Amino acid sequence: MINQTIRKTMLLLLGVVILLGACAPTGEVEIAPSATPTLEPTAAPTETPTAIPEPSPTPTPLPLDGQQTQYFIDATINYYNRFISATSRVIYTNKTQVPLNEIVFIIYPTIFQDAIFIRSIKLGDGTAISIFNWESHRMLIPLEEPLLPGEQIEIVHEFELYMPNREGTFGQTGRQLNLAYWFPIIPPYDEEQGWLVYEISIVNSMIVGEHLVFEAADFNVTLAFSDRRENFSIAAGAPANETDDVINYQLNLARTFTISISDIFTVTERQVDGITILSYAFPEDAASGEAAADITVDAVRLYSELFGPPERDLISVVEADFLHGMEFDGLILLSRGFYMFHDGTPKTNLTIITPHEISHQWFFSLVGNNQALEPWLDETLATYAEVLFYERYYPDLVEWWWENRVDGHGPSGYVDNTIYLEAGYDAYRNSVYLNGARFMQELREAVGEEAFFNFLYDYVRSHRYQIATGEDFWRTLQAHTAADLSDIVARYFSTPPAIP
Ligand SMILES: [Zn+2]
Repeated sequence: MINQTIRKTMLLLLGVVILLGACAPTGEVEIAPSATPTLEPTAAPTETPTAIPEPSPTPTPLPLDGQQTQYFIDATINYYNRFISATSRVIYTNKTQVPLNEIVFIIYPTIFQDAIFIRSIKLGDGTAISIFNWESHRMLIPLEEPLLPGEQIEIVHEFELYMPNREGTFGQTGRQLNLAYWFPIIPPYDEEQGWLVYEISIVNSMIVGEHLVFEAADFNVTLAFSDRRENFSIAAGAPANETDDVINYQLNLARTFTISISDIFTVTERQVDGITILSYAFPEDAASGEAAADITVDAVRLYSELFGPPERDLISVVEADFLHGMEFDGLILLSRGFYMFHDGTPKTNLTIITPHEISHQWFFSLVGNNQALEPWLDETLATYAEVLFYERYYPDLVEWWWENRVDGHGPSGYVDNTIYLEAGYDAYRNSVYLNGARFMQELREAVGEEAFFNFLYDYVRSHRYQIATGEDFWRTLQAHTAADLSDIVARYFSTPPAIP
């Protein structure tokens, strides 16, 4: 009897953690509604940005024709003073067929009160940029001469970060510094829709989904510490090259570059398919850190088989000092709750959510999507990837997964909901994540095993480094099946695609 009561309590606790789980920041209420510009625009005219000639085309086609944005970021971190001084140099090529009259930067830290001070903005030749406008948490820099198709522009931001004392992907607690979206980011430009920029969705003080859209870019990041370097473990999404306490990372064709630093991490290493897995945990959760490393090895092996290689040298799995999970390129952050409640069995959130976040290396990092308007393209697929993991490694627990993760929480609502669902976070999760998993299962049963897995593999491989759309999903599916899907589509989608 006592056992049963304890089990019930544990299940309840697990249920609570699941509610908060999986790429869904919650309770981030200290957000400043409007951006606080820290540099005053003046009326002085800008110099015309110089256009650098387009490099001569190479014979072998490269992803994005080799024109992806190049970020060169230098940062000096003072961990104990929660202060970072940084320079970000961006080389941006107009990859569209239309002239661009402005360049937009997402300055995500402006979401938090006084978290960023921008010291200067310059063109690559050192000319100061003094005319720009703020729109929400974005900086719009008008160009005196439009940037023509194929032309390049170089813009340098010098800035300081005052890390907010908060639990989150951008913030610092007493034992962890998390740097997500911490430098000026150029969003994708779409010839029909313009810059793909969206507002945060907040309903009842809870953030719903993710509002940023990223194109694949190259990141060269150099870190130094003004505290004692040897105190810190630094988790990143790429291998570290370190000389004289200066650390350099090169991460190519990625959506983001994210770092998590702690002075108390324990680190465990694994290898799978030529990829290094580094698992970072707080000392009291070291055993769960080992388990997270093992789960990651299994997940990477399975998803590489199903979707092709993740095209990363290293994946860092990091215990986060907050209560949700979040994916980045080559790095995932997992709630400390998953570690604390891991009991060594696969019936825990660590085993459910680690594969979920790892699958985002394919559905987010490799194949991008519009996270604000079509979040199902990463979250539905990542949630379904969880049960694929159980099918492969713990087939006896597949029914448990459906009941505990999906059916017990009331899957309902349209899979193609946006993050701007008025009903808020629970309705968003119940539709995009949970009913999304139900949709994927019905789709699989309708088209058959072979077509289903050939389709998923084809979808990933043919949309690598791009921003895939629902239309891409359906068009790829159509190439693998002639099954009549109209009934499934009508039940799960508010805007059924024209294709099937
Ligand atoms: Zn997710």
